[in-house]
Amino acid sequence: MTDWDTLAAEVRTCTRCPELAATRTQVVVGARPEGARLLVVGEAPGAQEDESGLPFVGRSGQLLDRLLAEVGGDRARTAVLNTLKCRPPGNRPPTRPETANCRPWTAQQVALVAPDVVVTLGLSATRWFLPGKEPLGTVRGRVHEVEGVQVLPTYHPSAALRNGPQGEPMALLREDLALAVRLTS
Ligand code: SF4
Repeated sequence: MTDWDTLAAEVRTCTRCPELAATRTQVVVGARPEGARLLVVGEAPGAQEDESGLPFVGRSGQLLDRLLAEVGGDRARTAVLNTLKCRPPGNRPPTRPETANCRPWTAQQVALVAPDVVVTLGLSATRWFLPGKEPLGTVRGRVHEVEGVQVLPTYHPSAALRNGPQGEPMALLREDLALAVRLTS
């Protein structure tokens, strides 16, 4: 198996999705701190991620950092990536071919991180691991074993932001992150 840095260098030059390759500022490969036992997976980079080249640095990322810290986790010890490495224009949803194009990169990244648990943020990232039709609300909050990988689906921080500090997604996201941190301790 290739190492993370070699893979990252390959991903940065990827042009499998012509529209995304033409419109992105840069490829957002993801972050994998040495020794990370927790992997958090989102859908796709947004404008700030596209600009900075780093995953989850916008409002959703800041909320993720805060909630992780509240439950005893640490972003500096957490691997973070998206199933799609390039920002879709206008933050439109990724197309099926785009998701399929990027799938081999993501699969290699998951294998390289080899985390104790993967937290999937939102339905799109959850579907990447758990294809099917079950709504997020019925699969979240518990661990699913998928080809040897422990997958814990939860809400996307953007849903928690939309519903506000007293909303259910915020409370459940915090609860699920707490479970993930316990599973990696
Ligand atoms: S989204 Fe993935 S597959 Fe598509 S161009 Fe970017 S890195 Fe390549």
